[in-house]
Amino acid sequence: MKIAVIGAGYAGMAAAWDLRKAGHAVTIYESADYVGGLASGFKEPGWKWSVEKFYHHWFASDKHMLGLIKELGLSDKVIFPRPYTVMYHDGKFYPLDSVMKAILFPGLGWGINKIRFGLVGLYLRLTNNWQELEKYTVDEWMRKWTGETVYKLMWEPLVIGKFGEKYYKQVNMAWMWARLHARTTRLGTFEGGFQAFADQFAEKLKAAGVEIKLTQPVTNIQERPGGGFELTSASGIVKADQVLVTLAPGAAANMVPGLPKDYLEGLLRLKSMGAVVLTLSLKHQLSREGYYWYSIPKSAGFPFLALVEHTNYVSPENFGGEHIVYIGDYLEPEHEYFQLSKEELLEKFLPSLKKFNPDFERSWINKVWMYRTAYGQPVPLVNHSQNIPAIETPVKGLYFASMSQVYPWDRGTNFAVEIGRKAAELMGK
Ligand SMILES: Cc1cc2nc3c(=O)[nH]c(=O)nc-3n(C[C@H](O)[C@H](O)[C@H](O)COP(=O)(O)OP(=O)(O)OC[C@H]3O[C@@H](n4cnc5c(N)ncnc54)[C@H](O)[C@@H]3O)c2cc1C
Repeated sequence: MKIAVIGAGYAGMAAAWDLRKAGHAVTIYESADYVGGLASGFKEPGWKWSVEKFYHHWFASDKHMLGLIKELGLSDKVIFPRPYTVMYHDGKFYPLDSVMKAILFPGLGWGINKIRFGLVGLYLRLTNNWQELEKYTVDEWMRKWTGETVYKLMWEPLVIGKFGEKYYKQVNMAWMWARLHARTTRLGTFEGGFQAFADQFAEKLKAAGVEIKLTQPVTNIQERPGGGFELTSASGIVKADQVLVTLAPGAAANMVPGLPKDYLEGLLRLKSMGAVVLTLSLKHQLSREGYYWYSIPKSAGFPFLALVEHTNYVSPENFGGEHIVYIGDYLEPEHEYFQLSKEELLEKFLPSLKKFNPDFERSWINKVWMYRTAYGQPVPLVNHSQNIPAIETPVKGLYFASMSQVYPWDRGTNFAVEIGRKAAELMGK
C-alpha cells in the first residue's frame, strides 16, 4: 500500500519504521526543515552536541523508546546520568530526587504529614488501578488522602505549574498516578543530543526505503470517491491509500474536512497547555551546587516554573565550554509570554536569576534563544479515557495518533513511539 504519514516527530517516524518493515511504500510529509518535532534541537557552530528546544530526557522506564533504540542498533549512544533535582521551599532549594530526600524535605515537618506523604506515594507507586483514580481530580483525591498541608506543599504546586489556574482543579488523579508510576530519578539522553538521535533515526528510515519530505506542510486531506486519499502539500496533490496524521488535534481537525461530526467534536474538545522556553548560553555555571532541575511553585513569585541547567546534566565541553540554562513554563496560548519578543521575556526573567546565584550578572549571557508551542501538554480531565479519540478514525484508511491519546501516560517521546507503533499495527491491512 502507499501510505502517507503527516509529521516527522517520534509518532510519525516510529509508525513509518514499522509500516516500511511490513512492506508498504511510506512517505513522511513534514512541515519543518528538520525531523524530531517537539523533541528536536538546535546547534551552534562551536558545539559538538545539540540543545533541545524544549528540555528533554528519557526515564529508565521508557521501554518503548529504549526498545526502538535497541532495534536501530544505537543503544551504545544512550547515557543515563543521575543529575540533582531540587524544589523551592521558604527561600531555599532542597534536593528532591529520592524517596529519602523527599522524606527529609523540611516543609513536611516530622509528624503525621511525613507518614501520609510516604504512604500515599507508596500506594501510587504500587497500584495499577488508574481507572479508579481517573474518576477523581488530583485536587480532591490528594486533599483527602495526604491532607491539606502535604497537598498544598508537594502536589498543588505541580498541578498549578503544569495546568495553570484554569485547569489545575480539573486534572484527574490518573495523570498524577502515571507520573509517579512511570518516572525514574535516572535521566537518559543520546550522545550528541536528541537531534542527533532524530537525524540518525531518519537516516535508518531512508536506508530502509522510507521517503522523508521536509518543508512539505500538508494543508488538506480529501477522501477520493473510489477509496484512498488526495493530500494537498507544498509540492501539489499526491495520492495515498492510507494516511496517518500525527499533529495536534486542532490542526488535524482543520486538515480533514470530511471527518464525521462526532469525531471532529471529540478532537476539538481536547484541552491542552502551551509551553514557553527561553534558553541561555552563559559564560559561567549558574548553580553553585551543580543542581540540574529546579522546580519552583508559582506561589513563590518567580516569573517561570522551572529552571534547568542542562550543563549540570551533560558536560559544558559538548557546547564549547558554554553553560546552557533553560527557563520554562506551561501556559495557555493566550498568555502574554506568547506575544513577547525573546528580549522582552529575558527582561522579565533576569531579576530572578540572582536568586539562583547572587553573583549572576547580565554580562554572563552569551546568547539567548526562545521556543514556544501552543500544543505542549494535554490536559486530562475526569474520566478522560472515555473522551480519547480512537487512532482509527471513522473515515476508512485515515488514522490519528497524538500526545492527547497516550493517556493514562503523560506525554513523552516514549509514548509517541508507542502510539506510532500501535497505529502502524492497525494500518496496512
Ligand atoms: C516543554 C516540553 C518538555 C518535554 N519534555 C519531554 C521529556 O523530557 N521527555 C520526553 O520524552 N518528552 C518530553 N516532551 C514531550 C515530547 O516532546 C512529545 O511527547 C513528543 O515529541 C511528541 O511526538 P509526536 O510525534 O506525537 O508529535 P510532534 O513531535 O509534535 O510531531 C508532529 C510533527 O508534525 C509536524 N507538522 C505540523 N503541522 C504539519 C503539517 N501541516 N504538515 C506536515 N507536518 C506538520 C511538526 O513540525 C512535527 O514535526 C516535552 C514536551 C514539551 C513541550
